[in-house]
Amino acid sequence: MKKHYCLNCQHRLKTDICEKCSFDNSKENLDSLSEHEIKRLCYLQLKQIKSDLNYAYSFLIVGLILLVIGSVFLGLSFRFDVIGLRVFTPTSMEFIVSMITLAVSLGLLTLFCIKFFYNRSRKKFNEEILDKIKNNAKK
Ligand SMILES: [Zn+2]
Repeated sequence: MKKHYCLNCQHRLKTDICEKCSFDNSKENLDSLSEHEIKRLCYLQLKQIKSDLNYAYSFLIVGLILLVIGSVFLGLSFRFDVIGLRVFTPTSMEFIVSMITLAVSLGLLTLFCIKFFYNRSRKKFNEEILDKIKNNAKK
């Protein structure tokens, strides 16, 4: 099923009336709005989506940096023992630091994915409405 969002606040819709802002998203009401008004709402949302996506990219960058740092520390937790063999030392400070950094990194990357796909779907939704208006204007 296609996802629908409130045209006024972009809350995910279950019914025509938005739970968050009580905007009427029914076809009848949307038809009564002027094209200009719908366009204005869409552009407003696209602007918001753009800044949300930029915010999500900062999660991606910090997540990737932490992933690298975590991997370096994980490598460091393999220490040489007295006879020169590399031994995994799970009680070492390096291993603890690497686990914490990797966990935070994983969390940030997950958040990025959620935000990215959510906003991409919202973007598509708004662009489709704008396309429809554009095509109507051409006829
Ligand atoms: Zn709403």
